[in-house]
Amino acid sequence: MNQGAGARPSLANARLTIDLGALVANWRSLAALAPSSETSAVVKADAYGIGVARAVPALAAAGCRTFFVATAPEGIEVRAAAPPSIVYVLDGLPPGGAAALAEHRLRPVLGTPGEITEWAAFRAEGGDGDCAVHFDTGMNRLGLGADEAEALLADPRLLRLLSPALVMSHLACADVADDPLNALQLGRFRELVARVPLIAGSLANSAGILLGPKYHFALNRPGIMLYGGRGPADRPPLRTVVTAEARVLQVRHVDTDTPVGYGATERTRRPSVLATIGAGYADGYHRLGSSSDSRLGGKVFIRGRRAPLVGRVSMDLVVADVTDVPEVVPGDWAELFGPSIPLDEAASAAATIGYEFLTGLGRRYDRRFVGP
Ligand SMILES: *Cc1c(COP(=O)(O)O)cnc(C)c1O
Repeated sequence: MNQGAGARPSLANARLTIDLGALVANWRSLAALAPSSETSAVVKADAYGIGVARAVPALAAAGCRTFFVATAPEGIEVRAAAPPSIVYVLDGLPPGGAAALAEHRLRPVLGTPGEITEWAAFRAEGGDGDCAVHFDTGMNRLGLGADEAEALLADPRLLRLLSPALVMSHLACADVADDPLNALQLGRFRELVARVPLIAGSLANSAGILLGPKYHFALNRPGIMLYGGRGPADRPPLRTVVTAEARVLQVRHVDTDTPVGYGATERTRRPSVLATIGAGYADGYHRLGSSSDSRLGGKVFIRGRRAPLVGRVSMDLVVADVTDVPEVVPGDWAELFGPSIPLDEAASAAATIGYEFLTGLGRRYDRRFVGP
């Protein structure tokens, strides 16, 4: 899949350059913001699309000891990529899965009374395995509700049997620094953590780390900022990890008022030069990034300049207006997002977020890893 220098030309029309050095640098920058906490790495969804098999060893070599995934099968991949690491499964314990998780030394993040009962029964029968407990402090998605948390904390025998290595919660609005829900969740989590003083706590995702030291418990859980998604602020300065590019397949000269693409949703407003580029929504370039007569769509970066899309994003193709970039020829590479079109900008032109662009990249890209 990788094409080194001097290798045969790639037959793919789209390529990703994944900078593992930047990934590690971003992890270090986030760790430096919380020097008294451990900094883990959230590598769910195949390390946000960049590939667990390369991302996890790079982070482990830099000193990252703890990884979070969503599902147990993802955890098995992380275990293979970094055998000595600690791996938490955020979605919890699949029914009947206790022995299988323990076999791979995966730690379920238990979030329902049913999961707790099942894991406790496994331990009571001599099963060996660590776990975490998830308290819901206001997101209403995963984790024990207030009454369920109360029931667990009132049962020291059960707590001892589980002996969780971690208690955690997740912030719903960390990317909006002054949202009152942040302080509310922090207060609730503090009370819970105070009642299990010997157990490590974890609250902050990437944006939560930026909320400041009050939000840093024993362990932080950054995801998106490791991968160069900046979220709310440019603090810390994050490096670009993923560059997505696609090849120009054709260049055509057209008159004013020429319709472009499916549905003829956009017509040229001047004599134009159009470049047809070999990536589309099947490559994660969302269709909502389409352009039309009434709506500006996404942009690509080509030969040192930005060029707006024209017409709809289709499955395998987008068309860009390169009238002002006259030297464009077939075979040129156009950046979809990367150092010149920030991930968050490309995503927001398609009414979505960098997370969704990264995790939806698809399988057609040539993947080139550089660094560390
Ligand atoms: C995905 C996730 C994270 C990482 O969040 P980012 O916003 O990507 O930093 C942390 N904790 C939990 C529970 C998550 O689901």
